Amino acid sequence: MDNQVLRNDFKNIRSWVFDLDDTLYPPSKELYAQMAERIRTFIMRALGVDEKTASVIQKDYYKKYGATVCGLMVEHDISPEEFTDYVHELDLSSIRPNPVLKTRLRALAGKKFVFTNGAHHHAERVLERLDLRDCFSGIFSIREAGYIPKPAEKTYLKMLDTFGIAANESVMFDDSPANILAAKKVGMKTVWISSNVENNQYCSVDDKNFCDYETPDLAEFLAELTEE
Ligand SMILES: [Mg+2]
Repeated sequence: MDNQVLRNDFKNIRSWVFDLDDTLYPPSKELYAQMAERIRTFIMRALGVDEKTASVIQKDYYKKYGATVCGLMVEHDISPEEFTDYVHELDLSSIRPNPVLKTRLRALAGKKFVFTNGAHHHAERVLERLDLRDCFSGIFSIREAGYIPKPAEKTYLKMLDTFGIAANESVMFDDSPANILAAKKVGMKTVWISSNVENNQYCSVDDKNFCDYETPDLAEFLAELTEE
């Protein structure tokens, strides 16, 4: 698409909202494996089940509730703070600073926010590792969402309200098609980060027009919006 046409379409955007994992940094098999193992360990200890059963429970709840933590809350009365704090205590040494993305984010006119289904502390740590923490005016995590994860539309409305931003003046970047579709339904502009297709098996949607834009490379897309 012609860059001028693209820029025109974004000229009323005042707020830039980004998912965290697999959006602000690329999918990492190493981090997936770490997190999956910590989730399994938590479930094994909390429910007194073996590793295989824990793995089945994890997948079931992710599929049924959109986040494993929600299934554990609803079906087992587990404290969500305890779960998210434990699960997100990851070794993040594989995440490196991203100066290119930092430059692109800084070139955007308006405020930038993070909207994630992950833990608040995890988001803080990842942004520190990426050296992007000071690019963002706020983080809306699963805690602020009251443990009702994306793609619940009421969580998007709560996020917009919390940050004091208008849906029709904001854009959502996310690697999950289901999360993008929900953003579109509440009136946000949408950009799907398509670099994570094979890992997003639970997030496919039937609606072929679920996003306004698609890109495999966030920094490249932002460059088209901001470079002369
Ligand atoms: Mg994501």
